[in-house]
Amino acid sequence: MSEDKPHQNLAIIGHVDHGKSTLVGRLLYETGSVPEHVIEQHKEEAEEKGKGGFEFAYVMDNLAEERERGVTIDIAHQEFDTDEYYFTIVDCPGHRDFVKNMITGASQADNAVLVVAADDGVAPQTQEHVFLARTLGINELIVGVNKMDVVDYQESTYKEVVSEVEDLLNQVQFGTEDASFIPISAFEGDNIAEESDNTDWYDGEILLEALNGLEEPEPPTNADLRLPIQDVYTISGIGTVPVGRIETGILNTGDNVSFQPSDVGGEVKTIEMHHEEVPQAEPGDNVGFNVRGIGKDDIRRGDVCGPADDPPSVAETFQAQIVVMQHPSVITDGYTPVFHAHTAQVACTIESIDKKMDPSSGEVAEENPDFIQSGDAAVVTVRPQKPLSIEPSSEIPELGSFAIRDMGQTIAAGKVLSVNEP
Ligand code: GDP
Repeated sequence: MSEDKPHQNLAIIGHVDHGKSTLVGRLLYETGSVPEHVIEQHKEEAEEKGKGGFEFAYVMDNLAEERERGVTIDIAHQEFDTDEYYFTIVDCPGHRDFVKNMITGASQADNAVLVVAADDGVAPQTQEHVFLARTLGINELIVGVNKMDVVDYQESTYKEVVSEVEDLLNQVQFGTEDASFIPISAFEGDNIAEESDNTDWYDGEILLEALNGLEEPEPPTNADLRLPIQDVYTISGIGTVPVGRIETGILNTGDNVSFQPSDVGGEVKTIEMHHEEVPQAEPGDNVGFNVRGIGKDDIRRGDVCGPADDPPSVAETFQAQIVVMQHPSVITDGYTPVFHAHTAQVACTIESIDKKMDPSSGEVAEENPDFIQSGDAAVVTVRPQKPLSIEPSSEIPELGSFAIRDMGQTIAAGKVLSVNEP
């Protein structure tokens, strides 16, 4: 597999049982991402199980190993390449930590494939995942209308599902120009790697073409520097070395930087990447660096490093749009769960619930509601219990989203609308 091609992180989203794992298996199989000898080795075994197309069956068995134990199939971190790109499948929303991982940057997806079963159409998780994709900054969406074999490859059914999904995209203001639709069968392989004879009425792109045609993710090099600090080390001979991944902007030696909310700063003396000194680093780079006059106790994980003349924002309060994914009861004013934003984890109080939105229409459903619950979207005012650096999503999207966790679960996700600084 070529590592020279540009890289894309791809999320596969959609309602449970609509065919996400089957599609990933199909993509791995069609792109030759399963080694030949491995296929040979399991040829007999798969044939014995009597599955159509033994190689594909093997891929599925391999992916489905855990299914028998009733665990979510691990399709995350699978890799494949097309002519243009090298793809990594990032965690899927069914996974416990998907939302947190996406927000904290561990698996930020550039683009997504939304799988919608033709025989079921838009289902509750289709709505939730589209809303999340929009909130978490997915650029383009390829909609695979799956299980076309189940509906006898009928164009009318396909069109109905497409129009349902278009309505949904409009509701969450996800531009339909950033979405494409393909009738597929992950199981039978229609319109994945080859044009299918079963859908003569369709003359658009097949899935691999659409994946090839995605735009190359552009690194946000022109924005101001934002570098959330992951850890702070003391290295003999160098001194204090904060480490982290650059989210936006460029870090140069000689730059005057500021760490917020610790509110200290200085001049960047050295930058190290992959154990080598470099004069400059850009978005996506994991760096360790050394700043004149900064000691180990001056800064901490969760600080954000930015230019001294335009330091990262620190919120006394902030307004945010959230969607409640799973909460056992109701959320009311005063609720204080832990917010995860970039590398920071800070207890924050939901001071007021300002508006409740209807997630399926995007309209304000109620002003100042008494409570919100699972499935609700709302605008809330939040007060961090300790200083927190966070940015309006409209200005720096990379630093403008968060996950809300409580009781070991991600219960909500959101994006920052505005920040009120002290
Ligand atoms: P996930 O929960 O979204 O990952 O869904 P799975 O990939 O586990 O698929 C759910 C069920 O639908 C499985 O029994 C699959 O074999 C079946 N399935 C998936 N794609 C297709 C398809 O294109 N056609 C048919 N007939 N069945 C499919």
